[in-house]
Amino acid sequence: MFNAFEFTLITFCAFIADFDIFFITFTEEDNHRMFISHSIFPSILLFTIGIIFNSYFIIICGIAYLSHVLLDTLDWGTNMFFFGKKIIGFKFLISKEENDNLKNYLEKFKVARSFFDFKYYESKLIIALELLIFVIMVVFILSFALEFILTVVLYFIGFFIHMFTHYRLKTIEKT
Ligand SMILES: [Zn+2]
Repeated sequence: MFNAFEFTLITFCAFIADFDIFFITFTEEDNHRMFISHSIFPSILLFTIGIIFNSYFIIICGIAYLSHVLLDTLDWGTNMFFFGKKIIGFKFLISKEENDNLKNYLEKFKVARSFFDFKYYESKLIIALELLIFVIMVVFILSFALEFILTVVLYFIGFFIHMFTHYRLKTIEKT
């Protein structure tokens, strides 16, 4: 249904939002999820363009983009509606108390990022979700897009980068 180029672009739409991390110094809160790229607006734009040009492909790009923003509501939340400047979501990994006294919590670590990284990988819920999403991805690719199975390589590149960071932080905090 989609050619390799389109399929790659759709996959790209699912994680392109996180490249806003390179501009993190432009946020007051030191949180890249405050950017409009982590709100619902890019998906709305894609849906609108898709409808105007009657393009199924662009609408699927919008769904891929939206799936990222929705998933980001689970762990730490995201600035979903942008203009409200409010982190919205289930925020399973952070309590209100931690959020209000975040500075004190971050000071306990040599690298502030360790706080977020360790909470993430110590959460059984997150590990279960990660596994579930991985299984869904494999099942979907096998059932609908077998010819693009190599896309899984992208997953493992991301996976190894995250694991490398996790163990590097662990080493830093231990010393
Ligand atoms: Zn994100």
